[in-house]
Amino acid sequence: MKKKAFKSESKRLLDLMINSIYTNKDIFLRELISNASDAIDKLYYRSLTDKKIKVKKDKLEIRVDYDKDNRTLVIEDNGIGMTEEELDKNLGTIAQSGSLKFKEDMTKQDKVDIIGQFGVGFYSAFMVSDCIEVETKSVDSEKGYKWISTGAEGYSIEECDKKDHGTKISLHIKPDTEEDNYSQYLEEYTLKELIKKYSDYIRYPIKMEVTKHELKDEEKHEYEDKIEIETINSMIPLWKKKASDVSEEDYNNFYMDKFNDFDKPLKVIQTSVEGMCTYNGLLFIPSHAPYDYYTKDYEKGLSLYASGVLIMEKCADLLPDYFSFVKGVVDTEDLSLNISREILQKSKSLGLIAKNIESKIRKELETMLKEDREKYEEFFKTFGVQLKYGIYNNYGQDKDKLQDLIMFHSSKKDKLITLKEYVEKMPEGQEKIYYASGASIAKIDSLPQVEQVKEKDYDILYLTDYVDEFAITAIGEYEGKKFANVENGDLDLETDEEKEETKKVNEENEDLLKDMKEEIKDVKEVRFTNKLKTHPVCLTSEGDVSIEMQKVFDAMPNDMGIKAQTVLEINEKHPIAKKLKDLYKKDKEEFKKYTKILYSEARIIAGLPIDNPTEISNLICEVISK
Ligand code: ADP
Repeated sequence: MKKKAFKSESKRLLDLMINSIYTNKDIFLRELISNASDAIDKLYYRSLTDKKIKVKKDKLEIRVDYDKDNRTLVIEDNGIGMTEEELDKNLGTIAQSGSLKFKEDMTKQDKVDIIGQFGVGFYSAFMVSDCIEVETKSVDSEKGYKWISTGAEGYSIEECDKKDHGTKISLHIKPDTEEDNYSQYLEEYTLKELIKKYSDYIRYPIKMEVTKHELKDEEKHEYEDKIEIETINSMIPLWKKKASDVSEEDYNNFYMDKFNDFDKPLKVIQTSVEGMCTYNGLLFIPSHAPYDYYTKDYEKGLSLYASGVLIMEKCADLLPDYFSFVKGVVDTEDLSLNISREILQKSKSLGLIAKNIESKIRKELETMLKEDREKYEEFFKTFGVQLKYGIYNNYGQDKDKLQDLIMFHSSKKDKLITLKEYVEKMPEGQEKIYYASGASIAKIDSLPQVEQVKEKDYDILYLTDYVDEFAITAIGEYEGKKFANVENGDLDLETDEEKEETKKVNEENEDLLKDMKEEIKDVKEVRFTNKLKTHPVCLTSEGDVSIEMQKVFDAMPNDMGIKAQTVLEINEKHPIAKKLKDLYKKDKEEFKKYTKILYSEARIIAGLPIDNPTEISNLICEVISK
């Protein structure tokens, strides 16, 4: 017999499980039944391609047995089973991702979330059991093996006699406590209810002994209890049922069980298509991003069934990257059961289904945006970034499909609006869609350049995600209106008179401005402006790369040295302008110091780093000490 300890991360999670911080203990049964069903699916699928494996379809089943006296509950399947190695690997590590990092200071709520996010399946049985025995025999093995564990201490594996392939899981149910009635899991009634509630759609019969109250003698009103074996579940997959026959709770339970989420989905999309392609689909938009969504470990895809048989757990080709958050199942008769993955990927039918699904999801989102704004905003806050990526990925080829689904914060409305809403509200004379980028709404709001546009009573879209500006650039033009970054030098908002005036000031001070540029070096130009209303200076950019985009490039590991072309603009009406002019005539050394300080100010406002902070700080002190 081999005795082993759980991997350390697993042990900690197991501790949490055993101390049952998750209140909904019922779910252990659906987890075990769902594993059993998967095991039968795997066996059936293997039998289609492996001639050595023979299965009788009508013999495939799951058994649930309970024994009140011995406090045991047994869940047994005649599926694919596990080899000794599989047993060790599958039941020795919780949430095999290995990325489970526990913080000691987590609150109870956080812990519950972690369990939810990892979907610890099998281990949930420890919430109700003090000892678990797993007897299993793989179709690939001559021998059977028994795994036993009483919890966090570890587990042991030994050989055992098992005649047929499959897995038998025996739970020794915990004694009742003041808070928890564990004995209910040994009651026929509770078990029946739980199976119906959570596992009704399982496509194999879940059989259990049930007591039938039968009339023995009508006159004497005598009844007799008879024990019969009954199939508890209806076995009709949820996606094959008519939407009117399925409750919201059924959909939610199915989603939570199948996709290991402890939260119900934000949106359920039921679809049934006949024609160019034929399929039933049940799609879900989660209410929160999966824990690994923004890591490379995340695999997108829908479960693909061919005529009711699972042929691929995560078929990535069914979803474009910008909808990678969608979960669900697709069942089609257009694909043959024993199709290989390579052929599947090239299959025309699959391509048609994928296209159909893409447009279905898109239409559902468009409808949600129109009819349930609050829900859409909730969705957008969670997954909007993905749509924006979708716009600029693949050279912008999907932008037309997605541009009406994205939203930005509006300076006027102080809430999220779409591009369409922006354009509809544009006052006469406004030619461009104005936007400003920055780390947060408050930061953008205080940018000097914003003031001038606001004064014109134009709305400004605030871009706070780093992908935003790339998406906007990819869109290029919306309904014939070009986008303009308020930070850009040539916004062209001044009147002809104002322009003429600025031009004159700049010409008169040509030498001063040239010397300032000479002193700073980093900028393309220094100029006086009248567009800054109250602020003394600002940094603007010219050309295709904005300052915000430069920040994104700078943060990339392979810095390509892409820089924005910047211009230092000085408010011609501000007292500092006069001061500069005076100093230029009287004290060149002091003039240089002022130049450096002003340039640093402009960089600080733009959120750019100061290369020589000590020098600048000393300069400021020197100047203000005078
Ligand atoms: P999950 O089902 O999410 O992968 P579990 O902890 O529930 O996580 O199960 C871990 C693994 O153990 C499964 O992926 C499967 O390979 C194996 N397993 C669990 N139950 C069975 C079973 N009844 N028959 C065969 N394999 C099983």
